[in-house]
Amino acid sequence: MDISDGKPVVRPNHATKLATAGKPPIQHASTGGADSEPKPLKREGVSFFRKIFQSEPEKRSVDCFHCGKLFDVVCDAQSSQCPKCGGYISLKDFGVDNDWRRRIQTRGDVIILKSGSIIGVDVQCHDLTVFGKLEASVECSGTLRIRSHGKIVGNLKCRELRVERGAVVEFQGEIHTESAFIDGDVKAQITCSGTITLEKKAHLQGLARAGGLIVKAGAKHTGMMEIVKVSSDDAIAV
Ligand SMILES: [Zn+2]
Repeated sequence: MDISDGKPVVRPNHATKLATAGKPPIQHASTGGADSEPKPLKREGVSFFRKIFQSEPEKRSVDCFHCGKLFDVVCDAQSSQCPKCGGYISLKDFGVDNDWRRRIQTRGDVIILKSGSIIGVDVQCHDLTVFGKLEASVECSGTLRIRSHGKIVGNLKCRELRVERGAVVEFQGEIHTESAFIDGDVKAQITCSGTITLEKKAHLQGLARAGGLIVKAGAKHTGMMEIVKVSSDDAIAV
């Protein structure tokens, strides 16, 4: 992630992807056979180029901001267009290291660095990682990862919530998620369609509504717990 003059800039993630995916296996001269000369890496070289130019590019699913349609995009792409409604979908990543006051709408990832804050705007993205300050309404199609301290203001919607060990946070809005992993000290009101997992160092205070709860040894929960049945069996029974 590049930060330039405090402004979020696009991470050239395609370069990173090529560097890791395309790395040819290292062949040591000593394993190359009887010749003392290192063998040319012809075979490896061919597979290296085949990997880049001929294999299917890595894809991931994104959902359209405008109509909700789920579709595949190439991981390295910077933008895409919804096949259903034709809407523009940005796939840019953002790193925020100062006070950010503009709306963010991307299906790329956003990181709020320790010196950064997003206040008073809407954020739509894929993964959101928070080291800094967040006072915003968030819709995250991936993982919302909290590593900060203090209050988080605004309603949050995500596929997966992760509060890392050591984080001490108070969520002042509502959280809607499909799954949650908590290993920090959390005050929150959580609605989770799947399972909330309280890891060893977790302390959750507040109302939790979830399809299930896993409490690891050492974890604590104070407050109300409501088990909401969302399995298909129940849907039929109702
Ligand atoms: Zn659409």
